[in-house]
Amino acid sequence: MMYASVIIDISHENVDKTFQYRIPESLEGRIFVGTPVRVPFGNSSAVRSGYVVEVTDRPEIDPARIRDLDSAAKEGVTAQSRLIQLAWWMKEHCGCTMNQALKTVLPVRQKVRQQKDRQLRCLLNEEERKEAALEAARKHYTARQRLLEAFAGLPVLPYDQTVRRLRLSAAVIRGLEEKGILAVESQTRYRMPEYYGNPAFSAPARLNPEQQAAADDFCARYDRGERGVFLLFGITGSGKTEVYMEMIRHVLEQGRQAIVLIPEIALTYQTVQRFYSRFGRRIAVMHSRLSDGERYDQFERARTGDASVMIGPRSALFAPFPDPGLIVVDEEHETSYQSETVPRYHARDAARQLANLAGASLVLGSATPSLESYTRALSGEYRLYRLTGRAKPDSAVSQVQVVDLREELKSGNKSMFSRALAEAVQKRLDAGQQTMLFINRRGYAGFVSCRSCGTAMRCPHCDVSLTLHGSSRLVCHYCGYQQKMPDRCPVCGSPYIAAFGTGTQKIQAMAARQFPGARILRMDLDTTSRKGGHEAILAAFRRHEADILVGTQMIVKGHDFPDVTLVGILAADLSLYSPDFRCGERTFQLLTQAAGRAGRDRLPGEVIIQTYQPDHYAIACAAAQDYETFYQQEMAYRRALRYPPAAQMLCVLLSSGQEEALNLAAEELAGAASGGEESGVQVIGPAEAPVYKVNDIYRKILYLKQENYDILIKIRSRLEQIRLRSSWKTHVSVQFSFA
Ligand code: ADP
Ligand code: ZN
Ligand code: ZN
Repeated sequence: MMYASVIIDISHENVDKTFQYRIPESLEGRIFVGTPVRVPFGNSSAVRSGYVVEVTDRPEIDPARIRDLDSAAKEGVTAQSRLIQLAWWMKEHCGCTMNQALKTVLPVRQKVRQQKDRQLRCLLNEEERKEAALEAARKHYTARQRLLEAFAGLPVLPYDQTVRRLRLSAAVIRGLEEKGILAVESQTRYRMPEYYGNPAFSAPARLNPEQQAAADDFCARYDRGERGVFLLFGITGSGKTEVYMEMIRHVLEQGRQAIVLIPEIALTYQTVQRFYSRFGRRIAVMHSRLSDGERYDQFERARTGDASVMIGPRSALFAPFPDPGLIVVDEEHETSYQSETVPRYHARDAARQLANLAGASLVLGSATPSLESYTRALSGEYRLYRLTGRAKPDSAVSQVQVVDLREELKSGNKSMFSRALAEAVQKRLDAGQQTMLFINRRGYAGFVSCRSCGTAMRCPHCDVSLTLHGSSRLVCHYCGYQQKMPDRCPVCGSPYIAAFGTGTQKIQAMAARQFPGARILRMDLDTTSRKGGHEAILAAFRRHEADILVGTQMIVKGHDFPDVTLVGILAADLSLYSPDFRCGERTFQLLTQAAGRAGRDRLPGEVIIQTYQPDHYAIACAAAQDYETFYQQEMAYRRALRYPPAAQMLCVLLSSGQEEALNLAAEELAGAASGGEESGVQVIGPAEAPVYKVNDIYRKILYLKQENYDILIKIRSRLEQIRLRSSWKTHVSVQFSFA
């Protein structure tokens, strides 16, 4: 006997309230997760609609008290059933419960008041209207006469304004309504976020041959019914956005809708403006700074067909479009697509899943594709489109220079500006051009390196940086390896070995001292936390109200600044030292993107990369703008240490308020993970999580590596079973996710 759990009111806050029904014989084989069904509910005989969220052979209550499903609903696949299926995928792959997944994909409907615009519509033709106005005048119905005259040449009038201006009573309007002379109509007014100004409509750019080839191939396949994943790999400024817009146009023409994901930070305003000036009011926007009302309305617009393109970070994916045909993930390599909270889904993977469910195509775009995506493109699983040149004919690729900071120290320059960079900035100041100074702060502050030779302290087993705990202990966050903090560099013996830490504020102060008179703006989390803070700073810089912009990785995202001719990267290595196996990839991506900022327009650009490790392949390849070589080297590293995408890696995060129970659980799961019949599973840890104690909760991590995803899934269910039977199950929570 099979049972289905059903949520009845999907728009309600209680999506986690499910009711179990028996699947009758007549419906066997037709009920799946996401299937819309009709069910008996409450004491009345009425049936209600709901969605199946789970199918199981285990009754939750006494089977005698479980009623039968009434029927499967006739309507085809709805947006809701698709999103519920997506939630199921999340539950299976991202280590969360079905409730948590449902709450993510079906955003709780806030109780926000719909705003309605009422209007008056005259139902008479022009002649009849004149006639009626004359008659009203004859009968001295002056209010009626005023209204009928106001309709001259204007069949629709705004309700409130007209009533006020013409001093009409409700009775007058009702009277005319009853006579069939006018109708009162109401129209939902959607709250529009600030983007909706009145940008001039912009005609599509004339695509260059590479852009055209990508768009044409995509559209031809689309028309043949071919759906799949496409990787649009184009250097910064190669015109990827124009290609997306062409693809979207094609999909919209066929009556389907499109979702465009952009990274969390910084891009929103400019991107929306570009899409808006192409597609007008068919654009809907979703992002974290919208009010509840605005959010609700944007989703409503997707549901009702008022909008057909949804733009935004991760959550835009959950737009309830009736029939999405294309999902675009711009800057697909960005880390902000990874959710940091449960469910820890990666929006790129969720997008692939949704595209599959919806029969849509997925387009991933990047100047520096993630190793995962590029590997799939090379294997033929994804179709690869390349854009190799700048789209604007007169914009050149910048000149890149690498400065070795060890040499600077040797020659007595202890400032954070190398002589080359200081000179280059001064040249821009004299010429009235702009400079961006970028500090790579994605890394943790806790790594330790030598300023004389550039050596960083790394784990001998995992080849990632060690992190300084307190003042004297270095720890590996993958395997738990520890060592004492040395007081001299183990390679060159220099005493200049210390934890690195430089903030944007300090750089701003140093720059002010080094370049007196220069106007300096700073952009980091402190200066942008206000609503609109980002846009204000960027707009001021674009208006050339400052000569130098100092900032974190925020400033390197897709902005176009025509007067910027110099980008200085102050400490390119910083992100190389974060205790994360992807830090080489992050560094390469950040440097390549930063270099892409310079000289986007008529003026040629220059990039200066300051580093302690000029020979590191991530830095050398970024300087040479050489993705292929970087990819080969990084994949060799991943293969050697079995990191993704060369292997699959399952992270098991354990947390507990009781340290003893936590240790017990971690040891037991580690033992069980390696003790099974599966071969070739490598178990690393347990180790303390990068932040071990948060709010009195202790956290440990275990990593499992294997080439075969299915084997890891099998081990995961075994560990789940062990947890359920354990003595510590009430004290320790366990989360699974894939790296
Ligand atoms: P990407 O998204 O690859 O960084 P964009 O789409 O932002 O590149 O394009 C970079 C610049 O080139 C933009 O200002 C854009 O308007 C312009 N552009 C794009 N395609 C063309 C084209 N075919 N002809 C002329 N200019 C173009
Ligand atoms: Zn050294
Ligand atoms: Zn280690």
